[in-house]
Amino acid sequence: MKSYRKELVFHTPTRRAFINITPNIEQCLKESGIKEGLCLVNAMHITASVFINDDEPGLHRDFEKWLEKLAPEKPYSQYAHNGYEDNADAHLKRSIMGREVVVAVTDGKLDFGTWEQIFYGEFDGKRDKRVLVKIIGE
Ligand code: ZN
Repeated sequence: MKSYRKELVFHTPTRRAFINITPNIEQCLKESGIKEGLCLVNAMHITASVFINDDEPGLHRDFEKWLEKLAPEKPYSQYAHNGYEDNADAHLKRSIMGREVVVAVTDGKLDFGTWEQIFYGEFDGKRDKRVLVKIIGE
């Protein structure tokens, strides 16, 4: 069995952002040389997500509005966690949007359903954050 590991780094200029990282993951798969297997992609930080959905700007605005309703960033004083930091909302948003995705690798390609794309979801940005890519197979 072959095994491939890589850390990708993202640094968003804004506190929150969604980035389509599908091309980055396709590049990793190419580098791995693996044709049949599984590809795991996970955020290595507890205030960021990796998730699969549609690359449609309206939907991304809907996610932003929905997450702000569920876990508004401000006022910071509403969260117990914010005695130490100001990012309680980011922890909560990350929990909702998820830590990782696993995509099947078939015939050297990511075996997506229709419209599926992989996104990095940043909820406490403006600094370097890492994403782990692990691919195993033959
Ligand atoms: Zn925190």
